[in-house]
Amino acid sequence: RAKAEGRNAWRFFAAAMDARAREAMQIEADLRAGLARGEFVLHYQPQIDLRTNRITGAEALLRWRRSGQRLSTPGTFLAIAEETGLIVPINEWVLLEACRQAAAWREAGLPPVCMGVNLSPVQFRRQDVQALVMRVLEETGLPPDLLDLELTEGILMDQAPETVAGLQALRALGIRISVDDFGTGYSSLNYVKSFPVDRLKIDQSFVRGMTSEPNDAAIVRTIVELGHMLRLQVIAEGVETEAQLARLKSEGCDEVQGFYFSEAVPAEAFAQLLRQPQARPRVEREVVVPLD
Ligand code: C2E
Ligand code: MG
Ligand code: MG
Ligand code: MG
Repeated sequence: RAKAEGRNAWRFFAAAMDARAREAMQIEADLRAGLARGEFVLHYQPQIDLRTNRITGAEALLRWRRSGQRLSTPGTFLAIAEETGLIVPINEWVLLEACRQAAAWREAGLPPVCMGVNLSPVQFRRQDVQALVMRVLEETGLPPDLLDLELTEGILMDQAPETVAGLQALRALGIRISVDDFGTGYSSLNYVKSFPVDRLKIDQSFVRGMTSEPNDAAIVRTIVELGHMLRLQVIAEGVETEAQLARLKSEGCDEVQGFYFSEAVPAEAFAQLLRQPQARPRVEREVVVPLD
């Protein structure tokens, strides 16, 4: 009896595994087809300089207009794109498209914005990121100081000498390097010491708690101070409330990004935000920016 039950449990488990594997394979096939059919789009989220209250940056965030489905955010497909290596061609497209867009805004005479692009650790393992970035800048004509590469701990942890040298060369061209989700890694302090970076992005988990949890408030303050002592810019992400904004201002944080000002929006809507002389919280804007 126990044996039969064990067998049933195993069958159930195997069937569930099978379903998961099949779903992953389906997503992989759809990702490949989606890339070929041009189903990926970028949305842009503004970054606001707290001294001038103006938009000075944009983060390009990947969206997938999967046929017959609602717009998907990376949470639903990024892991599979990374496991299968498909993130390499997808992220190449992201970099090209984001730089093309930033160059187009610039040529249209809009105020300059530095374009942030998220890179994947898989890219650093499988391709020459330095060569890719240089080729894309040349192709789009975007000045290097209008590109910001967002790297996470996964990339910084693997301090392969070629990676460090490649990043150093890109920085020498004027490209900015930001550490994304700062504070969540194992060795955050170690890599800001040894890596050529320009900006820390305080992870949204600390920002979320900073007006209610003394520990989060202490961590945010410490990251701002650390960043400034190391002569780095500090931006807070996930800013949703006026109270968080006020607190970040009083801590001397340089920039903010979050739903308080705007979620990531399509390029046209972003250009509209850029045309306004001052950034305003989204609740104060009469025009609701369409998401999709
Ligand atoms: P991330 O780079 O840390 O991006 C910030 C995420 O937080 C975005 O989610 C953004 O929409 C969300 N966010 C921004 N402000 C707020 C806020 O005030 N409150 C809350 N709750 N969330 C906020 P998204 O677009 O779903 O992206 C998730 C992650 O996927 C990104 O985290 C990034 O790691 C990755 N990702 C996005 N685009 C790309 C890409 O083109 N390539 C690669 N490799 N990864 C990407
Ligand atoms: Mg990011
Ligand atoms: Mg982040
Ligand atoms: Mg994140």
